[in-house]
Amino acid sequence: MKLTEETINNLKLTIMKYPTTVIALFLSILFLSIHTEAKKPKCGAQLIHAIIAKKDPAFFSKQAAKRQEAQQNFQYKQGAFMKTTAQVTIPVVFHIVLNQNQINAIGGIAGIQKRIDSQMIVINRDYGRRNADSITIPSAFKARYANTGIQFCLAHRKPDGTSTSGADIITLPSTTRKIEETNPNGQDLFYDAKFTNGAFNTWDPSAYLNIWVCNASLGNDTNGILGLTVPPYFPNTFGYNPNEVGIILNYRAWGKRSTGFEPYISGCDKGRTLTHELGHYFNLEHIWGDDNGSCPGDAGYSDDGINDTPIQKDENYGCPTFPSVSCSVSAPNGDMFMNYMDYCDDICLTMFTTGQVAVMQAEVSTGGESYSLTQNNNICNWPAAIPSLQSTTPIQVAPNPCTQYCNVSYNEQPTQISVINTLGVQVWSAAPSAIGNTNTFINTQTLASGIYYIHVQFKDAMQIQKIIIE
Ligand SMILES: [Zn+2]
Repeated sequence: MKLTEETINNLKLTIMKYPTTVIALFLSILFLSIHTEAKKPKCGAQLIHAIIAKKDPAFFSKQAAKRQEAQQNFQYKQGAFMKTTAQVTIPVVFHIVLNQNQINAIGGIAGIQKRIDSQMIVINRDYGRRNADSITIPSAFKARYANTGIQFCLAHRKPDGTSTSGADIITLPSTTRKIEETNPNGQDLFYDAKFTNGAFNTWDPSAYLNIWVCNASLGNDTNGILGLTVPPYFPNTFGYNPNEVGIILNYRAWGKRSTGFEPYISGCDKGRTLTHELGHYFNLEHIWGDDNGSCPGDAGYSDDGINDTPIQKDENYGCPTFPSVSCSVSAPNGDMFMNYMDYCDDICLTMFTTGQVAVMQAEVSTGGESYSLTQNNNICNWPAAIPSLQSTTPIQVAPNPCTQYCNVSYNEQPTQISVINTLGVQVWSAAPSAIGNTNTFINTQTLASGIYYIHVQFKDAMQIQKIIIE
């Protein structure tokens, strides 16, 4: 194995050549996907599991033991499927690791913020059993539609305590770059998305749920995978570096589409990639058991280990019609293809089950691998005193409190001005033509009274000013 190192525009990326065993594995997987068109790995879970299993033959038994332990703790000891924890909230940071062309393709800084806002809404609805499309869940499965009790908030404090919009933007060199290399241990397909200038760009993984948005193409497949998760139990169980823990998202499969022109991979524009990957983060597996299309009695058959998800032969794509029976033992209702842990299009994924929720709650409860994430809600509050991010471009806001309008003035031409509420949601933004050279008026009459933050983006800096609207 040979390590090469290059420095481009101050960005040092450590690239590892594929070990031959991994190349062989990828080729076989790519070969399979070519010859069975529909069977494309949308998510990287199977790839990463196969890579670990090559190094650690006990991988699948360790994984099953972990899941069984969680189920025993949170179902059988309680005597029933039951919710055991109050609602918890987990801080999320999005590391946007893209080149300028890719950032432009998704609408620049404003587009990124819009995707983050829509993504946060989707995962909170899906994890809070509030997704409106749950009306499509067949009545046979409706009773199992469950609330995870897990909610997510956007980080507004960096690890050093200074403010952040929740987007940590890392601009790569202008050449289009695929991020699909393995780390020195041959463990992770997208290792270098997590590196900037030779060091991990991960924010404290015991306090933040780290998400990297990158160009997750795979080989010659320009769509690549939609997402890949390193769950929090990997460091203790398989020797992963804790800074690897988190979720990789394909930059064309996150957030919710708001215009017809945005680049999205077909069927993946409703924000459900992250819903699915978060399931892996909290220790769920694919609903069909990743067993290459087996039913009970077939060689190699395995299950997702969840009692209330039906036995299912293989993954589903697109949008099947209910009932779709793949293993006769599950007749007449068949596959739960609308489960978030299947591979259907976003528009057809609508539910987690009570059994899946029991496993996820084990992860966020006392003693669980993600418990520490639930103890850091202050990360989502804006710092009381927001430091000037660049003192050479100060802004002034008057009057403050604002009554009918706020006038924000500055010395340098901004590229964007927006108003963010305390939940981190953008509630107002200036049209580019409305951004003045020296000042911009913000009409606040349509905004509810309360605390807000004006974000003024300059070419090289952002200024944030807390305001009160009366
Ligand atoms: Zn998956």
